[in-house]
Order: sequence, then structure tokens, then C-alpha cells
Amino acid sequence: MPATPAWPPKSTPRLYLEERIETGAAIELDQAQSRYLLGVMRRGDGDVVRVFDDRTGEYLARLATAGGGRCLATVEEKLAPREEVPDLWLCASPLQRDNFALVAEKACELGVRRFVPVEMRRSVVRKINNARLQKRMIEAAEQCERTALPVLAPLTKLDRLLRDWPADRTLFFADELGGEAPAEALANHSGPAALLIGPEGGFDDAERTAIRALPQARPISLGPRILRAETAAIAATALWMAVAGDWRN
Ligand code: SAM
Repeated sequence: MPATPAWPPKSTPRLYLEERIETGAAIELDQAQSRYLLGVMRRGDGDVVRVFDDRTGEYLARLATAGGGRCLATVEEKLAPREEVPDLWLCASPLQRDNFALVAEKACELGVRRFVPVEMRRSVVRKINNARLQKRMIEAAEQCERTALPVLAPLTKLDRLLRDWPADRTLFFADELGGEAPAEALANHSGPAALLIGPEGGFDDAERTAIRALPQARPISLGPRILRAETAAIAATALWMAVAGDWRN
């Protein structure tokens, strides 16, 4: 395991910036980021922050207060290149209440490359708030040290997802009616992968038939208990990371 560098300390605030970062650049932080650093984290002139851009990597920057409660971050040093995220997509039906944002957050923390909201026949929620999901994933990436954000795909209907499914990507479909033992199925596979999780009411029979007809699909079981959809999404992702992803390193 690589040694933890002493500088900057782990407690250094970490922010995602939309613009491309390069050493020497002076970047004006937005209102919310400035408020967070000055008001919540109690940082000020001369303090350091870590910033990353989902394009080039992570950097150390020094703060200066600017007018109107804004902060200026001057980028001093590159700390890390953008990481290579494991090639796992998580495809899942939108869920009620905060549960879908929770799944997006956990997908980001666990290392998913692409998060794909999928509308199914029994999906209760048929619209998603992309900005809210994106914000939740950015906050998770800031917290969990990711240097690459997950891609948030647009909401897609299941039949369209299956029609356009890439030939080289295995679709592990969590079927509450049963399937292969998941640890073996996920471990004995290499190459691009995806997980598919149904809505609160589960897949209907026609959907199950259509998914099973896809040559790239492999049904997996997640054990003898019926899990809530959000539990199933998080558990299956964690299992994939453990047996086929970057938890093995
Ligand atoms: N139709 C089910 C019921 O009410 O009895 C519930 C579906 S479950 C809440 C939602 C989704 O989680 C399922 O469509 C499936 O993708 C996944 N899931 C939950 N438990 C599972 C299990 N034991 N094995 C495989 N998938 C499971």
C-alpha cells in the first residue's frame, strides 16, 4: 500500500472545479464554494485547498480572499493525475424519496464509472432531477478523493437501453427470482461490465424475458432475501468492486 503523503494534510478541504486546472492559474471560486471555505471550514488568506477538475487531475492551491465574499485559488502544484476508474456501469430504476440520490452518492464512493437511470414499467418515479444527482455525486467525489467524476447518463427507457447495449459489455442483471451465485459470476469475468437493478416493484415478466434474451445479459442472485432496490444497487456494486474492481489492489 502506498505511503500517505504528509503534505497536504488529509484535512485540507477538497473541491471540484468545472474549469480546466493548470499550475499557476488563479481561479475565482463560486459563491457556494467560497462560503463553504470561509464560513464552514474557517479558511482564509494563505491557507491551502485541494482542487480537481475531472480532466487533468488534482492540485494544491493557495487561497486569497477577494471582494464580495469570494475566494481566489492560485494553483501551486499538481498532486495527482486523473485516475482510471474501474469499468463498471450501474444501471438502476429511479427510486422514491432520497433513495436514488443516495444510490448515486454511493455509486460514486464505490468507484462506478457511469451511472445510468433506467425507466422501467414498474418505476414509480419517471422524472429525475439531473442537477441534484450531479451535485450529490460531486460532493461524494470531493469527500472520497476521486479525481474523476462518474458520468451521469440521461434517463433511458429499458427497451432502448437493451436495444443499444454495447456488444462487449456484460450486463449483470440482479434478478430477485434467482440467478447465478454473484461472487463467482462477477469474479469469473473480465472486460467491461454493468449491473442492472430493478425498481421498488421489481421487473415485470416481459422485461425479464427481454433482458434474458440479450446475449450480453447474465442474471445474478443477491441472496435469499428480497433487498430494497437501493440496498441491492449498493451491495452489488460493492461486491463487484471486491471481486472484479479496484478493491483487489
Ligand atoms: N419484486 C420484489 C418484491 O416486491 O418482492 C422487489 C423488487 S426489489 C425491491 C428491487 C430490485 O432489487 C429487484 O428488481 C432486483 O434488481 C434487486 N433485488 C432485490 N433483492 C434481490 C435478490 N435477492 N436477488 C437479486 N436481485 C435482487
